[in-house]
Amino acid sequence: MPRGTPYTHLAMDAEIIATGTELLLGETLDTNSSYLATQLPFVGLQVKQVTLVDDNIENLAEVLERARNRSTFTFTIGGLGPTKDDITREAIARVLGESIFTDEGLLEELMAIFHRRDASMPPHNLKQAGLIPSAVGIPNRQGTAPGWWAERDGHIIVALPGPPRELHEMWEREIMPRIQKMGIGQVVLTRTLKTIGLSEALVDEMASPFLGGENPYTGIYAKPDGIHLRMIARAASQEEALDLVRPIEEKLREIFTTSIWGVDSESPQRVVGEMLTKRGMTLATMESCTGGLLASTITDVSGSSAYFKGGIVSYTNDLKEASGVDAALIQRHGAVSQQVAEAMAEAVRIRLKADFGIGITGVAGPDGLEDVQPGTVYIGVAGDGRRQSDLHRFPQNNRSLIKHRSVVSALLALRQLLESAA
Ligand code: ATP
Ligand code: MG
Repeated sequence: MPRGTPYTHLAMDAEIIATGTELLLGETLDTNSSYLATQLPFVGLQVKQVTLVDDNIENLAEVLERARNRSTFTFTIGGLGPTKDDITREAIARVLGESIFTDEGLLEELMAIFHRRDASMPPHNLKQAGLIPSAVGIPNRQGTAPGWWAERDGHIIVALPGPPRELHEMWEREIMPRIQKMGIGQVVLTRTLKTIGLSEALVDEMASPFLGGENPYTGIYAKPDGIHLRMIARAASQEEALDLVRPIEEKLREIFTTSIWGVDSESPQRVVGEMLTKRGMTLATMESCTGGLLASTITDVSGSSAYFKGGIVSYTNDLKEASGVDAALIQRHGAVSQQVAEAMAEAVRIRLKADFGIGITGVAGPDGLEDVQPGTVYIGVAGDGRRQSDLHRFPQNNRSLIKHRSVVSALLALRQLLESAA
């Protein structure tokens, strides 16, 4: 839709309504809404509300009615199938006060799909050829149910199928280009700077002149891989949005310098991999409470064989000792200690002839070990003639979370050592 039409001066708010009793029972995780919520800002739509509703026509109609009165776009997800509990079309027709008729074009396409499958069309599927006067059918290349694009009184209802493959395909091929063509687009651009080694309070203090703000908005988020600084800008184009973000990013980089380890979707394993590759150096690991997750994470990066020599999962003291950790050290300080974490890093570095070593020893819980609290993890790094270690106390009494956080912290500890060795 070109500029100058009624749409340009309406607020471009969007709502998502995901239907399905199984979503409310918690049996199916509503991944469709989050998928759509990440997509809509890129076409200039701001998601104001996400609603889950069961397969009940009264409930769906009520939610639709509310959305229609306060937003410009409503996206429904699911309920376009052939069965009795698929009631999305009926609910939309009811809210718009229109009657469903069988569209000849849609019917032909539907019959053709079954023909290609060498099957005759079950009578139930006839309703998938239904349409109302305000709607057009949207092709579904992955399934039988066409979507709907229904436009009335400045409000647009887009009905999308529930199976994620069908939804993604229809969004990418049909709906997104359609909305882009409307040219309503403010684009929303985000930029994330990821810091490590600073507390949330300190990041807050250091960044305070830039926090808040309307456009761009800058906020602080505590994440497992450190404190993130996130900028969000809105503008008519990607370039304009970038122009808003860039000066703030430059200022923040001046303030935080090497505390920033990555941006946007960069991961610690990739950043560390790039640093090692650039230096032509190698890494080996010895891990206890993370059970191999560190080695696994390092090898998530393609090309990691160029710098990763391998790892030892030394879950027992015997294996730690057999791998080169001094038994007396374990005796004296305990297996979960700073000294042993550093010794593990150094021992594996020597044993596997690597430039750098990482050692992790800790208690993933939920029970403590001797007098060590669960969530206590020591991370040691060795290389470049140095050894360092850190004590981490992860608050969560959750094994997989503690393992995950330990791995992230270990990779970022190595990054710090590499950074200062540069
Ligand atoms: P169908 O023709 O398969 O019946 P439909 O458009 O009627 O499709 P639903 O019946 O609501 O869609 O859902 C079909 C399947 O798609 C569900 O069983 C579920 O596996 C998946 N699904 C539906 N909604 C969601 C959602 N919000 N998030 C993730 N998966 C979903
Ligand atoms: Mg269905």
